[in-house]
Amino acid sequence: MTVYQHPTFDMAAHQFDLVADHLDIPVNDRDRLKFPKRALTVAIPVRRDDGSVRVFAGYRVQHHLTLGPTKGGVRYHPDVCLGDVAALAMWMSWKCALMNLPYGGAKGGVAVDPRQLSLGELERLTRRYTQELIPFIGPQIDIPAPDLGTNEQTMAWMMDTYSTQTGHCVPGVVTGKPVGIGGSLGRREATGRGVGYLIGRAFETLAIQQSGSTAVIQGFGNVGSHAAFSLAKHGVKVIAVSDFQGGVHNPAGLDLRALDQHVTAQRTVQGFAGGEPIDNANLLELPCDVLVPAAMERQITGENAGRLRCRVLAEGANGPTTPEADVILAERPEIFVIPDILCNAGGVVVSYFEWVQDLQSFFWSESEVMDRLFRLLEGAFQQTLQASRKQRIPMRLAALSIGVKRVWEARRARGLFP
Ligand code: NAD
Repeated sequence: MTVYQHPTFDMAAHQFDLVADHLDIPVNDRDRLKFPKRALTVAIPVRRDDGSVRVFAGYRVQHHLTLGPTKGGVRYHPDVCLGDVAALAMWMSWKCALMNLPYGGAKGGVAVDPRQLSLGELERLTRRYTQELIPFIGPQIDIPAPDLGTNEQTMAWMMDTYSTQTGHCVPGVVTGKPVGIGGSLGRREATGRGVGYLIGRAFETLAIQQSGSTAVIQGFGNVGSHAAFSLAKHGVKVIAVSDFQGGVHNPAGLDLRALDQHVTAQRTVQGFAGGEPIDNANLLELPCDVLVPAAMERQITGENAGRLRCRVLAEGANGPTTPEADVILAERPEIFVIPDILCNAGGVVVSYFEWVQDLQSFFWSESEVMDRLFRLLEGAFQQTLQASRKQRIPMRLAALSIGVKRVWEARRARGLFP
């Protein structure tokens, strides 16, 4: 299926092949587990504020429909394309299965730099994209959520466009909405807090004291900033953070509140007075207890993996580590990897809670949400760690194997087509 050809899809496919060999999956079952069930490409004409019209390319990929509706984020970024979105949808499948959620994986996106559009243009783009997706999404079909470059406001526009078309309010069509229109308490912070929780578990496993330890975070958006605040709450010093423009470094620890105010005002960490500038490449190689890539795919590569100086690599982003880097990391057992499908699963877990609350019109307190989240993350962390130790395999292979096996078994139980 060359339609998905892209370096990120090749990477996800390569990871799947390793798992298929490890689980001894018969050849006849492999391609139908690997390739997405269906994909949609749409053209989105948007009238710009100056009266001109520009057409953007939009995508939605549903990876498998075996266990329930599909679930996954919507990404606004200039590099979005079909192969990239398909890879992210495949990872969502293994992540949902690892967490035992009744979903297949999905992902969507628009090839656009949201920073170049006004709020009105972004709203028109989002509403048009949603309109095109209407036959393809729904609370029992496919449920979008925020991802890179999108947020609660994007989800509110999507939910409104879908509901207007349906003729009644359908909060369960998206998750990551504002709380006032059916969103869940704790969803905004869920991914970053989950990252923080799992780093705490990894530290405990390695007998590293959280208090006084150091963290470096690439990406200071939803995931990176909430991971930073969660770590700081447990006494971890965040010594460097970055965004798409570059980073700031302060070996004594950054003042996160002041940094957050700076980012709110300037929309970038650059220029923050409480640290020295550092570029993204050097930031990844700083000595620290935990390194959290929380931005884009393919940041830890065969080129820089040998130079990482962290004790824990906590993958907040999806697909931040290439297979070439994994080969090098396998030779560096001093680095404990919390693989992406486990590390950032807090987001989809609380999205699931939001969907359940919407379907029942019965809403939970924030502490109920967080307690249930940490319980699910704890179970998945223990299962992955045990599989990794018992079978003497890397944490990534352990986590992926648990996820892929669940989908494979469900497929075998149902038959050839789902
Ligand atoms: P976001 O748009 O809120 O933030 C992204 C951050 O990364 C921004 O600070 C941006 O400037 C920075 N960035 C972008 N390109 C960069 C680059 N080349 N180098 C360094 N920094 C760069 O997005 P987010 O929701 O925080 O998502 C970040 C990652 O986490 C993505 O890989 C996403 O798929 C993954 N993720 C997000 C969620 C969620 O709930 N939002 C859940 C699971 C996984």
